[in-house]
Amino acid sequence: MSQASTPQAGGPQAAAGLAAVRAEYEEFRARGLALDLTRGKPSAEQLDLSDELLTVLRPGDVRSADGTDCRNYGGLQGLPELREIFAGLLQVPADQLLAAGNASLNVMYDVVAHAMLSALPGAKQRWIDEEEIRFLCPVPGYDRHFSICDRFGITMVPVPLTGQGPDMDVVEELVAADPRIKGMWCVPKYSNPTGETYSDETVRRLAAMPTAAPDFRLFWDNAYAVHHLTEERAELAPVLAACAEAGHADRAFVFGSTSKITLAGSGVAFIGSSPANTAWYLKLTGNQTIGPDKVNQLRHARFFGDADGVLAHMERHRALLEPRFAAVYEVLERELGPLGIAEWTRPDGGYFVSLEVPDGCAAEVVRLAKEAGIALTPAGAAFPGGRDPRDSHIRLAPSYPSVEEIRLAMQGVATCVKLVAAERAAAASQ
Ligand code: PLP
Repeated sequence: MSQASTPQAGGPQAAAGLAAVRAEYEEFRARGLALDLTRGKPSAEQLDLSDELLTVLRPGDVRSADGTDCRNYGGLQGLPELREIFAGLLQVPADQLLAAGNASLNVMYDVVAHAMLSALPGAKQRWIDEEEIRFLCPVPGYDRHFSICDRFGITMVPVPLTGQGPDMDVVEELVAADPRIKGMWCVPKYSNPTGETYSDETVRRLAAMPTAAPDFRLFWDNAYAVHHLTEERAELAPVLAACAEAGHADRAFVFGSTSKITLAGSGVAFIGSSPANTAWYLKLTGNQTIGPDKVNQLRHARFFGDADGVLAHMERHRALLEPRFAAVYEVLERELGPLGIAEWTRPDGGYFVSLEVPDGCAAEVVRLAKEAGIALTPAGAAFPGGRDPRDSHIRLAPSYPSVEEIRLAMQGVATCVKLVAAERAAAASQ
């Protein structure tokens, strides 16, 4: 999916229709609606797809394939049969994949915290002993990655996305020159929020590029590895294999979870990496826990059976999500398409649509939408520090509301875009 370029405010239609679109907005606001397109949460119907998880284990049925009593302590690496199921899907050999707690975000946070306090394989020293740590942040990106950087005082360096992943010319130049750049956030498949998948060439260059920091790491957050929305299933080159081939075996940490596969609050998170990184992480995480929730992991292994079981399950998600995304496009195309005042992505997977409005308009659109009872992700949330330098990007998350609610909410959003564009055009012509 290519990045939308920012359209320009104005145009004769926008200016001429100011009074009409104001009336349309006031009418909408008077309805006193309460609609929410903020976070990428599965809907209740999606959660229902995994109801069997609540009953799949019975009293007395608590042993894994190797005979482990899953109710007891131990098994820091996580249940082997669940790791087997997800190894191929996350492109990590099963013996280098760990099944952890319920949130991959938690694991990402821990890796950063551990790297602060214990030197990574290949590092000269702990990150906390460095004067400054920097992370590259492809933008627009995932706000919670940026929160982790904020928490640890890591300087965020935005890099542009291209529709094929980050702009590699920019990335290569930065990491080659600056030893303070120790990490880079990557959502390589159906990225949050642009929906793009990194090309093979992008993955190859990320794996091969020389870095000034010997302990540079890719934080490869493959949160949407199997979250297809169309027949077209995007293929992502396997990053660990690419790194090993390029002679940088320890370069990537891969993350994933079943949060948006089974139960968002009660899924299973995964982390995979090279043998050296995996041993480093296991040793340190052993200070935090005696082992993960193996009962939940056993439930998941039984529920899926195998990797095909995961993919079949994701088709059922797709059946619920596709019409929701279609409702977004339908309204945007009808209301904004002919005006040329906005552009949007049509992702092949993931949870988000990126809406680009004229520069300087996004915050005002979000504000007007809020007044009309439509909660949108705050403008700028997809950028470090919450600041979109062009104030043009809005993240839409259509998974949670019903199709009817989405149609209504998008009608309101489109009205807000029209109103702001028309107001700007009128101001400019005065
Ligand atoms: N990573 C990305 C890119 C996400 O979009 C999300 C949720 O929206 C997460 C991670 C959260 O994953 P988890 O629930 O496993 O912490």
